[in-house]
Amino acid sequence: KYSLNFLNQWIVCAEQQFKAHLAELNALDAAIGDGDHGSNLARGFTKVVEKLQADKPATPAALLKLVGMTLISSVGGASGPLYGTFFLEAAKVAGDQLQLDDAGLALCLQAGLAGIQRLGKAEPGDKTMVDALSPAVSVLNKQVGLEMAAQKAREGRDATIPMIAHKGRASYLGERAIGHADPGATSASLLFDCLAKP
Ligand code: ADP
Ligand code: MG
Ligand code: MG
Repeated sequence: KYSLNFLNQWIVCAEQQFKAHLAELNALDAAIGDGDHGSNLARGFTKVVEKLQADKPATPAALLKLVGMTLISSVGGASGPLYGTFFLEAAKVAGDQLQLDDAGLALCLQAGLAGIQRLGKAEPGDKTMVDALSPAVSVLNKQVGLEMAAQKAREGRDATIPMIAHKGRASYLGERAIGHADPGATSASLLFDCLAKP
């Protein structure tokens, strides 16, 4: 059901979305971080799409691995290794399958999220990308469709607005982080929008 072509379109959509929202993501990060989240992801995903076009990976696992490796090597910020790990861990679960079904995709994304949490030690409620990813991945396991998962990611993003941050740069701000959506939760929600409509 989720072919190589589907995954390619997902990533190309993400590149376009991160470019379209570059200024917005930078502004969110300027409010509670160092202002580079949109630039980081736009640069990283531009590299990713270049690599995909040059290398033409032949399996979902190879594609996901290329995305992860490229993000880790081309994004300097915290989000590079975190999103990179997401795709690398998803690649491991994809194994040698030529396409993924609903359950397979859910397992891949669940492993990706677990990788992010292992690396970054963030839990839901810490005002990070995990707040958007976790509810989206949880609902995917219930086989309710990708649009519902994207909806949960958007709700998770919005839920970060009143939070104090406990991880990343925003954690230095204490109560001053309140009132701003987390940039990583916002980019994670864009990633799920693309999964639902690639
Ligand atoms: P940097 O903070 O190094 O400039 P980015 O601006 O690209 O990196 O990414 C910031 C985002 O990374 C935050 O909005 C948050 O969602 C996410 N983040 C930071 N630290 C962690 C962590 N330990 N676990 C999960 N996500 C994190
Ligand atoms: Mg930043
Ligand atoms: Mg930075």
